[in-house]
Amino acid sequence: MAWKCYSCGNANPNDADVCQKCGGTVAAPKSFYVVWIFGGAIAFFLVYLAGTLAGGVLVEAAAMPRDEQILAEANTLRKEGVPEFKNINTLKPEEKAAAKAIAVSKEKAKMNFICKGVLFWILPVLLFILGGLMVGFMSDGKTIIEAGIGSLVGQAGAFALHFFVLDTGLEWMVLLVGLVPGFGLAFFGAWLGETIQDWKERRGGITG
Ligand SMILES: [Zn+2]
Repeated sequence: MAWKCYSCGNANPNDADVCQKCGGTVAAPKSFYVVWIFGGAIAFFLVYLAGTLAGGVLVEAAAMPRDEQILAEANTLRKEGVPEFKNINTLKPEEKAAAKAIAVSKEKAKMNFICKGVLFWILPVLLFILGGLMVGFMSDGKTIIEAGIGSLVGQAGAFALHFFVLDTGLEWMVLLVGLVPGFGLAFFGAWLGETIQDWKERRGGITG
């Protein structure tokens, strides 16, 4: 969280009024920080995508039906004239896949709303704090708001990919409900990153 001198580029601690190298008092222009909105957007885009995909896998794993359930669904789907399936191993791969998909969605529907939410969102939440922390820590200057704005852009981008390309069944509500806490988490992470950076600088040695 140092400020960069406009004349010589030296990084100065925040409590220094003049540049420690050349005595300049002008900080480098703010435009530098815009970079971190883009940097943040890319970071949070990746984090949101990875987190929600992994969350989907976690929910899927938790909703894994037992063989008997898959077999039961396969028998419900069974065409007329086909003898009853007695063993899951006699199913053709596509029959098994179709039966499993139905069984999984039924299990998902039965799952506790909170349990499902926690499984799905725990990774994105942790990754968002981590992402904010990295933006706050890696960047010169205070980039807390930048990380937050970046998170909004990144979330919207990753959601668009989910919605239009991956077809993973995320709903618009998910994006809308997630934007504010997502912003908050990125903000919190960045604040934490700045605080750690500050603490490191105070212990000596300017890293920024
Ligand atoms: Zn200077």
